Amino acid sequence: MSASSPGPFFLTNTLTRRKEEFKPLRPPHVGLYVCGPTVYSDVHLGNVRSFLTFDVLYRWLTQLGYKVRYVRNITDVGHLVDDVDHGEDKIAKRARLEQLEPMEIVQKYTNGFHDVMRLFNILPPSIEPTATGHLIEQIEMVKRILASGYGYEANGSVYFDVPSFAEKHPYGELSGRKIDELLTNTRDTEGMDEKRSPLDFAIWKKAEPQHLMKWPSPWGEGFPGWHLECSAMSTKYLGQTFDIHGGGMDLKFPHHECEIAQSVAADGQAPVRYWMHGNMLTVNGRKMAKSEGNGFTPEELLTGNHKLLEKGYSAMTVRFFMLQCHYASTLDFSNAAMQASEKGLERLMKAMTLLPKLKASDADEADIAALEQRCHAAMNDDLNTPVMIAELFEAVRIINSVNDGKLNLTTTSIEKLHGLMHTMVHEVLGLRAEAADAKGEDNALDALVGECIRLRVEAKGRKDFATSDAIRDRLAAIGIILKDTKEGTTWERA
Ligand SMILES: [Zn+2]
Repeated sequence: MSASSPGPFFLTNTLTRRKEEFKPLRPPHVGLYVCGPTVYSDVHLGNVRSFLTFDVLYRWLTQLGYKVRYVRNITDVGHLVDDVDHGEDKIAKRARLEQLEPMEIVQKYTNGFHDVMRLFNILPPSIEPTATGHLIEQIEMVKRILASGYGYEANGSVYFDVPSFAEKHPYGELSGRKIDELLTNTRDTEGMDEKRSPLDFAIWKKAEPQHLMKWPSPWGEGFPGWHLECSAMSTKYLGQTFDIHGGGMDLKFPHHECEIAQSVAADGQAPVRYWMHGNMLTVNGRKMAKSEGNGFTPEELLTGNHKLLEKGYSAMTVRFFMLQCHYASTLDFSNAAMQASEKGLERLMKAMTLLPKLKASDADEADIAALEQRCHAAMNDDLNTPVMIAELFEAVRIINSVNDGKLNLTTTSIEKLHGLMHTMVHEVLGLRAEAADAKGEDNALDALVGECIRLRVEAKGRKDFATSDAIRDRLAAIGIILKDTKEGTTWERA
């Protein structure tokens, strides 16, 4: 962090529905848990937005000087097709369809997920635990829930007793749901021969004989319920109570509500101090979903190979587009918005390349310290990336003016501006210059134009103005504009 203090960080806690000052339990350490992917299919762009939100949180906490232990799990068992307690396991189903071992499916889509994260410059977590790697911890947690009296066994499965838990504890606090309303609205009769209430959920499921993914337990062969893994793994790596738990809005209920209930039942404490939920991505105003035919994959996006795409967009353009919207608002994907982001990012990145070439003067005509403070204030205000980006465009205006000789900055201010832009653009927003090839090409071009400029200077030196003008005009004809300044000649693309 630079010399100026970044100030207190405020985060909207979705549990209290208020913006609260973030104060970690054990500073400078911060425990962060984010629900990871269920690895049974390709990641779509809506998933990318969710992981990007927590990537920015992770980057900003790190920037504030915290030592973050960031745990993001891989769900490789127990997530059933209907997101409830019946239906096939998503991974087992995919294994059957693709005629592979379930663990081959898990590996294939885990690799794919990591590729996509790298493509969008989303940093890897500190620990990436898998559900199948934590069967013992999950079985132990089921035992603790049974011991608390809030779980019961029925025919080889173990269920969480929601109504009896809700008599003593605030169930539904996070999602704002009430037990009575839930009871009136539920039509779910599946498994009712075993469950005492339709609100109860499985923490351990008995496996049918043909089931592929099953493990021995005190209740017979089976597999853990989907909600259980996050509770067991967050407790293991971050403790019974930890700082921040994140996930997509759609996970608030039942997944996160169930996580809270499980931890309170098993260990007697609310597990999470700050809950944070990212909003959804829509496409032309409609929710992104595979069934809607608009859930395009990152690959389709890059190639433009999808009926809803006018052209391909780079990963950094997509990242920038997403950051221009606050994480708690819905974001609508459209070609027009993407093309505006593409232009904006180009302007920003072009200004970044000018930074090392800026010429200093004795006067300061822009307040860089104030600009830095406004950038920090925006990030400290619930990760307000759109406001921060607006400040970066103010910086772009300053950089271009200094470059054009229309604004003066001292060496100190130029260095400060350089540091600020590097931190905010590369480290906090995670934007990087596009593909290495393009950069290599730019370097070669830079050298080539540099040679032409040298030839022109030599021509001018021998008063051969016909040649020097011809060099300038021919370069202009191919889109390279030379600019003569007091300090020498620079160039830019038309
Ligand atoms: Zn989870």
